[in-house]
Amino acid sequence: MSVIKLENVSKYYKSAETVSVGMQKVNLEFNMGEFVAVTGESGSGKSTLLNVLSGLDSYEEGEFYLFGDETSHYVISDWEKYRSAYVGFVFQSYNIIDSYSVLQNVLLALEIQGYDPLKKKERAIELIDQVGLSSHMHHKASKLSGGQKQRAVIARALAKDCPIIVADEPTGNLDSKSAKQVMKLLHDISKNKLVIVVTHDYDVVEEYATRKIRMHDGEVIEDKQVHSYEPVINPDQPVTKKMNFGGILRFAFRNLVSTPKRTIFITMMQMIVMLSFTLLYASMQSAMLSEGTYNNSENLNVTETRMLVEKRDGTDLTQADYDYLSSINEVNHVYEKGRNFYNNIRLYAFNLDQLKTPNYYYGDYSPGLPSEFEEYISNFNVSGTDAASSLSTREFSGSMPVAANEIIIDDPFEEFSIGDRIALVSSNYVSGATELDDRTYETFVVTGITHRTHGSNYNSGYIFFSDEFLAGDAISDTYIDTVLQSRIKYDMDYNTMLIFDDKYFDYYPDYYVVDNVLTTPSASLFNDNDGFTQFDENSNTITGDLTFITNISMWNEDIYMEIEREFTLQNIVLYEEYDTYFNEIFINQATYDLLVAEQEAAFEYLYTHKVRDNASITFDSQSAGNRILNRIDSDIYRVYYPANVPNPQSFDIMLQTAFYNFLLFVFGIFLYLIVHAVTRNTMRSRSKDFAIYRSIGAQKTVIARLVVVEQMMIAFTSIILTLVAITIMSYYIFTINSNLSVLTPRNYIYLFALFMFFGAWLGLRFNKKVFKQSVIENINLSKEVN
Ligand code: ADP
Ligand code: MG
Repeated sequence: MSVIKLENVSKYYKSAETVSVGMQKVNLEFNMGEFVAVTGESGSGKSTLLNVLSGLDSYEEGEFYLFGDETSHYVISDWEKYRSAYVGFVFQSYNIIDSYSVLQNVLLALEIQGYDPLKKKERAIELIDQVGLSSHMHHKASKLSGGQKQRAVIARALAKDCPIIVADEPTGNLDSKSAKQVMKLLHDISKNKLVIVVTHDYDVVEEYATRKIRMHDGEVIEDKQVHSYEPVINPDQPVTKKMNFGGILRFAFRNLVSTPKRTIFITMMQMIVMLSFTLLYASMQSAMLSEGTYNNSENLNVTETRMLVEKRDGTDLTQADYDYLSSINEVNHVYEKGRNFYNNIRLYAFNLDQLKTPNYYYGDYSPGLPSEFEEYISNFNVSGTDAASSLSTREFSGSMPVAANEIIIDDPFEEFSIGDRIALVSSNYVSGATELDDRTYETFVVTGITHRTHGSNYNSGYIFFSDEFLAGDAISDTYIDTVLQSRIKYDMDYNTMLIFDDKYFDYYPDYYVVDNVLTTPSASLFNDNDGFTQFDENSNTITGDLTFITNISMWNEDIYMEIEREFTLQNIVLYEEYDTYFNEIFINQATYDLLVAEQEAAFEYLYTHKVRDNASITFDSQSAGNRILNRIDSDIYRVYYPANVPNPQSFDIMLQTAFYNFLLFVFGIFLYLIVHAVTRNTMRSRSKDFAIYRSIGAQKTVIARLVVVEQMMIAFTSIILTLVAITIMSYYIFTINSNLSVLTPRNYIYLFALFMFFGAWLGLRFNKKVFKQSVIENINLSKEVN
């Protein structure tokens, strides 16, 4: 039985305008053991015949029999199997993978056909020896001479141990001496196979050919046996195996390693892209986070890495509660005496070792602050307090506070030095409120200084207490109540506005005086009657309703409460007087009593909502805080987490968020286009290699997996390098460190998945391109490229 039989096979090349004949009505039969020489002038159809025989190209008419079986039902994958298991190729342009060594080239052919992994190396070495290249086994193919390349290709073709060897002008590029040697080699080591050699130079093959076929204009015009051969009885039909996944991994890895420059280039490029994207992503996340927390840290001293927990039933926390809180994932530390953090008190820090210089900008020294501190440099109002142990050593200079009176201070204006004594003073002081004369403040010594940049709180700083201080005696209830009360008074006094006759007046309590001379409901003086509609020229007075609007703000649970208390005194007579300050206001006792009653009512209301005995728990980031918030049993505990309060979704913020996302998207697209362009070019430069893989029998799925695996390996390496780069950068560059600190493991997983996905996707895209062409188109195209 013949190996291959062609029956009236015709092949036409169709282009848009013309149809040209490749070969016509060819009838041929080939047997095992034959060494067939196909000759004929250029354009006579030799290559066409060979390509059809080897399953590299399709044909239009006739039938192709393989070991007696029809092949008309064959689909692409059948032809792939056929090429893989039956055919070894040798081409004129020595299709060899230049970046591989001789050994690797031969091994690849074995691996693609699923050769026993334990024996493949032995077999490859044996063949390399047979073609006389043992001494060049580990040389890169690109370094070989033409004859050596062709011998390596023959070794590769034979390595597969397939029944058919085809060679298209294998000696076309060689001098006649090497040409003869190659032909001899082909002949010597392919006994018992079917060898079909195309050559326009019959002389070089005459000695070895058993059969000569001459073609002309696509037709066989001569077909004769020139030497006898030993026919092979009952030849074995090969079995096809597929490369397994381990093989593909090795294949991909070898490709990356054998082209180190290209691999390093692509990896570095992807790394830079990932790094820029991650940094932009992180800085936008962090920008949005500080947008979201802008209003929150002003009035409550709880940082975003801390929250307060109290019992809903009003009882004190027990050891069981502390244990429960410690057991929650991501909680770093539970501070049992949460009040020690000065959570709900407006704090100012004064440097007791630095007097103000004469030209020191006076700034807005809060009128609520005790006057004895006015002479000291006041650095800021404290916008957050935390445990010093939450800082890592590279976040501050100096040393960790140990004693109770030692602190680390965040110092945006650089007005403190290590060793300075500072006073922490509450601003809730109201002149004339005698119960507050006994106010307390504490002094500390600075042991460390940080320069944390916290979003928009550029003019405020943070205080970090020692664990010793935090574990100490908690601030007393009386102190808390006193401060709360003074806080309400303060707001009544300084956050109150007066409305009279639709005109707004600032309200300065320092200027109001209780005047017992004024007896009618209340009275007030002003020195400018312009604009009043009901002014009485005769009595120089005006009568109307006087409205007080007060904003009292406090944190209640994790909601920022702003209470607007409003009350109106009717039929107030305002007197005009010229020798007073603008808008100075006199009220009588009855009005003053009304004011005080109002303050007390407000206090009662707020007092019932005040923070009670609480624990403070610390964690690494705001996102961790939000997760913890969700996990804490809210039936039993009430949690105060000011940083969680979202900024009101103003149009502004929404616009900004949309803009950030848009920017991120555009930047992502831009980076992707760069990667895409670079990858496309490298893939193009590899089209010859892809053609070779296919010609030696790699199936579509194998190459598809190969490309994806290669891309994933590169993406993975780039991700690792990116992580290393990020770690190093954030060690040295603080902004990067603080931006990155907003990213959670989940964010990193998303980024990882995104990068891996794009890696795989890129691979698949180019894969499709490779398979749009037939193998032979692929090979021809790659010849043009090279
Ligand atoms: P040979 O190998 O003997 O030189 P070919 O088999 O390459 O001849 O070509 C046979 C005929 O088919 C020629 O006329 C050639 O122009 C034509 N031909 C070969 N390949 C193509 C192709 N890809 N597209 C169009 N015509 C082709
Ligand atoms: Mg040709």
